[in-house]
Amino acid sequence: MAYKFVDNYREKGARKKLVEILKERGISDAKVLRAIGKVPRHFFFDETFWNQAYRDIAFPIGDGQTISQPYTVAYQTELLHIQKGDKVLEIGTGSGYQTCVLMELGANVYTIERQENLYARTIKVLPGMGYQANFFLGDGSKGIEAHAPYAKIIVTAGAPFVPEILLKQLRIGGILVIPVGDEKSQKMITVIRVSENEYDRIELDTFRFVPLVGDQAW
Ligand code: SAM
Repeated sequence: MAYKFVDNYREKGARKKLVEILKERGISDAKVLRAIGKVPRHFFFDETFWNQAYRDIAFPIGDGQTISQPYTVAYQTELLHIQKGDKVLEIGTGSGYQTCVLMELGANVYTIERQENLYARTIKVLPGMGYQANFFLGDGSKGIEAHAPYAKIIVTAGAPFVPEILLKQLRIGGILVIPVGDEKSQKMITVIRVSENEYDRIELDTFRFVPLVGDQAW
């Protein structure tokens, strides 16, 4: 992977086009589109593949890892309704692209990854790009109790069920966004914590994520 942070007119232009594509696909939140328009996605790719960075596709970027499809990132981010200063727990840091989008929206991001090589890479790459998130290595299916409650929780891997322990780490009024299903397809679920013991659950579109692996997962 190249860490040459060069954002030239070609990449800026491609990023603008990506934003237009996401609008056509139904992403309507102007703040989310602006954030996607700001994060240099090609920084997560080897320079050889910069011409792929602004296509609306997931892409392998080494170490058995895939950077999420921009549409999926935008879709989950829209559901979170991020407000400036929101404390957000992201489970599944992966490349760190989603982390950067959340930070562009003003979130204070706590992000956890179970794979050490990915964790080691993002703790170098993101601060190098100017994104100072709070990075953790471990099993995020249990959340991070020590920093709870969170205004928002986003899970970027497919879970077999909604872990109860994550619901308990939401503040009242907080939102959890999590794909739930089997290994082939998952429904995007949002859960809003309405009161101490009440939750509203909404089931949305179908996606395909890599599995959430851990204690409260596969
Ligand atoms: N949103 C990321 C991006 O923008 O590149 C992509 C995330 S990738 C689809 C899902 C990530 O979740 C993988 O990196 C995987 O290792 C991680 N993961 C799976 N189970 C996990 C767990 N229990 N705790 C933390 N991370 C986990």
